[in-house]
Amino acid sequence: MNIVFYPDPVLRQKTKPLTEINREVCKKAEEMMELMHQAQGVGLAAPQAGWPVRLFIIDVDGTSCGEKVFINPVIVEEQGDLNKEEGCLSFPGITSKIIRAQRIKAHAYTLKGQKIEIEAEGLAARAWQHELDHLNGELFIDKMSPSNRLAISHQLKEFERLYKGAKVPV
Ligand SMILES: [Zn+2]
Repeated sequence: MNIVFYPDPVLRQKTKPLTEINREVCKKAEEMMELMHQAQGVGLAAPQAGWPVRLFIIDVDGTSCGEKVFINPVIVEEQGDLNKEEGCLSFPGITSKIIRAQRIKAHAYTLKGQKIEIEAEGLAARAWQHELDHLNGELFIDKMSPSNRLAISHQLKEFERLYKGAKVPV
């Protein structure tokens, strides 16, 4: 697995719920965790590793405790608005302010197949919303204000140019 960069079409693909948690799923989730830590990110959705399924990982504190792999995740409640700087491992070097809910309630399945309820705020809540968007083929550039989007348009063009040349941006 590798991290997939914009404008790879897998980032816009509709993802499928996982119906079985088997050894392959666990292995891929582990690989994703490594990729995310290498890239020093706090979240990575399966499509960003070229795998169009409803799974993402979030690790906002870098500790080994707590659940970090979320399968078939659903946000059930959102509260408040916060406009803060955000980045994405599929757009290295680009950050922009994005309005997200401050707090969320959600549920998901763990790698052990247990259903868990989640309440998150701050960075974790932001990461949840960002990663869930990925599972719906939505990217943070879609949520930027028109002026913020304009400000990074030359960087997006550069990504598009590199993609056509089949080179990986660094
Ligand atoms: Zn992202």
